[in-house]
Amino acid sequence: MPNIKDNIQFLPGVGPKRAVLFQKELHIETVEDLLYYFPYKHIDRTKFYKIASLHGELPYIQIRGHFIHFSETGIGHNKRLTGVFSDESGTVEIIWFRGAKWILEKLRKNVEYVVFGKPNRFFDKINIAHPEIEEARIYEAGLTSALQPQYSLTEKIKDEHISSKTILKLIETAWAKYNSSISETLPPSIIDPLRLIPLRQAIFQIHFPENENLLAKANYRLKFEELFGIQLKLNYDKKIRERSVSGFLFPKEKDDRVVQLFSNLPFNLTKAQIRVLGEIRSDVTRGRQMNRLLQGDVGSGKTMVAIFSMLMAADNGAQAAIMVPTEILAQQHFKNISNLLSGLPVKVGILTGSTKKKDRKIIHEELENGSLHILIGTHALIEDTVKFHKLGLVVIDEQHRFGVAQRSKLWTKSATPPHILVMTATPIPRTLALTLYGDLDVSVIDELPPGRKPIQTAHFNDHDRLTLFARLKQQLDAGRQAYVVFPLIKESESLKYKDLEDGYHSYSRVFAPPQYAITVVHGQMKNEEKEISMRYFVNKQSHILIATTVIEVGVDVPNATVMIIESAERFGLSQLHQLRGRVGRGGDQSYCFLVSGDKLSNDAHTRLKAMVSTTDGFELSELDMKLRGHGDLDGTQQSGDPISLRIASLTHDGKILDLARDSAVKILSEDPELKKPENRILHGHLKNLQTQVVDWSRIS
Ligand code: ADP
Ligand code: MG
Repeated sequence: MPNIKDNIQFLPGVGPKRAVLFQKELHIETVEDLLYYFPYKHIDRTKFYKIASLHGELPYIQIRGHFIHFSETGIGHNKRLTGVFSDESGTVEIIWFRGAKWILEKLRKNVEYVVFGKPNRFFDKINIAHPEIEEARIYEAGLTSALQPQYSLTEKIKDEHISSKTILKLIETAWAKYNSSISETLPPSIIDPLRLIPLRQAIFQIHFPENENLLAKANYRLKFEELFGIQLKLNYDKKIRERSVSGFLFPKEKDDRVVQLFSNLPFNLTKAQIRVLGEIRSDVTRGRQMNRLLQGDVGSGKTMVAIFSMLMAADNGAQAAIMVPTEILAQQHFKNISNLLSGLPVKVGILTGSTKKKDRKIIHEELENGSLHILIGTHALIEDTVKFHKLGLVVIDEQHRFGVAQRSKLWTKSATPPHILVMTATPIPRTLALTLYGDLDVSVIDELPPGRKPIQTAHFNDHDRLTLFARLKQQLDAGRQAYVVFPLIKESESLKYKDLEDGYHSYSRVFAPPQYAITVVHGQMKNEEKEISMRYFVNKQSHILIATTVIEVGVDVPNATVMIIESAERFGLSQLHQLRGRVGRGGDQSYCFLVSGDKLSNDAHTRLKAMVSTTDGFELSELDMKLRGHGDLDGTQQSGDPISLRIASLTHDGKILDLARDSAVKILSEDPELKKPENRILHGHLKNLQTQVVDWSRIS
């Protein structure tokens, strides 16, 4: 009896060697995985381009013609085989960087071929590298459908001469033998009103579409199913947690320290901060465990919300911890929070990787006996040796920097699970938030503290450096400070800090002592050294801080009004936005100067232009997702989404996602445990998902 969970090794045409390759490269292990390996697009293979009309902006295309000439040139890395391919309109070069011998044996002149690939422009010439090639005669005979699926393949897979065609062939074999064991995963109560096509039919049509219309239906059904599965699981788990997990109670009557801080604050909380604190308060007085995501742009005052929440815990005899991604940020939070709480009966401690053994021991003791109320730390805080007396609240700052596993450890630190407040300044596009954090409640701080002036952003070319330095000098001479950020060179360990070093020299030639002092911070420095540099800058002993992105998150120096980002084209949008958020924290006008080379890719150009034209983090995050979604156009990348989906796209399928979420919520509200006979099918599906879907949502 064929079972869809059979290993693909035994499928004719696979075998042990390919099975290993498929598993490693494409995560295909079973027949089911193979059938669920959906094409990223379909090409209309009855359509041919004329060679004369090719240009570099085209996606994958087909041409038809013959080779008139082959030549091998270059040596070593530059070695290549070039074939001149011609049709009645002109010629184009087909290029191979490897496998020349194999190609020359296979291809002949004066035979008609169909070439399928992506045209590239190299100076003024168009070429196509490593295309798929098939004899026109065979191509025509094998054409079962005008719509030919394209599967994404890795370089290693291509090196083994496995093409989209090969995959399709294997799927055909698998389909013939196994299709009868594909069973429906959705109940009629969902399928009927949405008019979804049955799963079996959808899988067939996605690989072997009969026409555009059926292909669209297949796509829709499979995307819905994928997004629905995630939503069902998130909301099911959330319901279970709400039913089975009770949380600490922090009633308002005990608010001694909260009230004291409130009346001592040097400024008024913003309306948004007060609203969010109200939401948190109602969470912690319900007897359920809070799981809340707090989104707020850089500088919106999330830390203040965290402090008040931690005081709620302290007032109710529980401890609180705030976990931050970097040492620098931990130090800074510790300093600020200690200052702010200095008159209050609260004990605040810090624990990081560099905490001395002696101090560590004291902290451990105070945590265990309950005398320490608030602990600030890096992930040193989740080490097994750290035990709390009664951990009531955990705040995770700059949450995108932490992995799920790191966060999950916090739960084990308390018998009753602590309330969790996750904070992020990286605005998350709505569709992504629903998918990643669909089981969290969301609060938003949508207002900056009063008196902030929007940061002015400008773009400079490398050779405009004189103007740039003049703008910088203006600010420094007015008593302000500046950050200069350099990207790391990822590829090379030895060159990693080269740009930063060169940059340091170029800045220090112009901004030299005694008038100006420059300090440097980067990831390879010892913590004490970093600390000293930062302290210099914070205390205004230095005017320019040259750094790598270690300062990306959280650092707060209100007197710094200039952020210069060097090689800005090498940063992603969200990173640029985060970096820019380091300035504009006081009442003074602040500036962000993006410096780049002349030659910019289209995407880089779009990114820098967007940075200049808006300071709205949400707008930028939507654009960022769109830009990163580009990858899936040519199948080189599964998708630009930060989580891996088989077929749905968070960039394009927002509407289907909403529908999927509504359906999941509706079903669960009627049948929370999925016990009704008609929903049993979903229960099974859910179990399946348990192992399939990465458990990204749980912070438990
Ligand atoms: P982020 O949301 O980026 O973490 P912070 O919490 O670091 O922002 O706050 C940025 C700055 O704004 C800090 O210097 C903080 O003291 C200040 N701040 C916070 N809330 C207010 C407020 N209501 N009014 C004035 N300043 C505030
Ligand atoms: Mg912050």
